Amino acid sequence: MKKVKVVVVGAGVVGMSTAVCIAEALPFCSVTILAENFSPDTTSDVAAGILLPWEIPGIPLERQRRWFQGTFDHLLAITDSPQASEAGVLQSLGYQIFKEVPIKTKPYWADIVFGFRTMTDREMKRFPNHKFGQAILTLKCEGLRYLPWLEKRLTKAGGQMKREKVTDLQQLAYTHDVIVNCSGLGSRSLVEMNRSTLYADK
Ligand SMILES: Cc1cc2nc3c(=O)[nH]c(=O)nc-3n(C[C@H](O)[C@H](O)[C@H](O)COP(=O)(O)OP(=O)(O)OC[C@H]3O[C@@H](n4cnc5c(N)ncnc54)[C@H](O)[C@@H]3O)c2cc1C
Repeated sequence: MKKVKVVVVGAGVVGMSTAVCIAEALPFCSVTILAENFSPDTTSDVAAGILLPWEIPGIPLERQRRWFQGTFDHLLAITDSPQASEAGVLQSLGYQIFKEVPIKTKPYWADIVFGFRTMTDREMKRFPNHKFGQAILTLKCEGLRYLPWLEKRLTKAGGQMKREKVTDLQQLAYTHDVIVNCSGLGSRSLVEMNRSTLYADK
């Protein structure tokens, strides 16, 4: 049977995760990643990788909660597995401190992370320029280990990786059935390049 040809543009944490999900879950697809840079040269490699969301304006909180819960549960399962060390996913205990008391002192994700609590006066004494703080036990996903781990899984599932700077998403449609754009900050220039191509065509 002819396989469905999927191309994922970008090899950061979003592109690699997307490619692995498709390759492992849908064996009738052939998956190729096209990226200008691979690990260790992506933004995802330098991120602290701490799982702590911000509220995104314009998106219902319930949906943001679902996204965060899904990500947290997925990474927690890896943390509790024998693969935790190789994948670079671990528990991380930390403080989030504020110069002013925030309007919302209990964020929507407070009951998804573990042990969320307001910091005590004694703890706050360590941060004299700050008025409020929260202690959190969450997870940390280290890109420098997580991306190579995903690469291994992708290769095992039959996926391929090619170094290539994409300048025209539409061109990919001639050779692929599905295009997934995971180009991170590069997406802005990619979309702008494609917009000007569209205008030039007119
Ligand atoms: C210093 C720092 C600390 C951070 N800390 C955290 C943190 O603690 N927690 C957190 O959640 N987030 C953190 N972030 C944010 C996090 O790093 C990003 O949200 C995440 O890495 C984005 O992943 P991505 O896969 O979308 O993009 P990237 O990792 O940027 O990957 C983009 C991919 O697309 C490719 N690409 C781009 N344009 C093209 C093109 N035209 N053709 C082909 N390929 C292309 C690139 O080469 C690359 O492979 C931090 C970021 C920085 C800079």
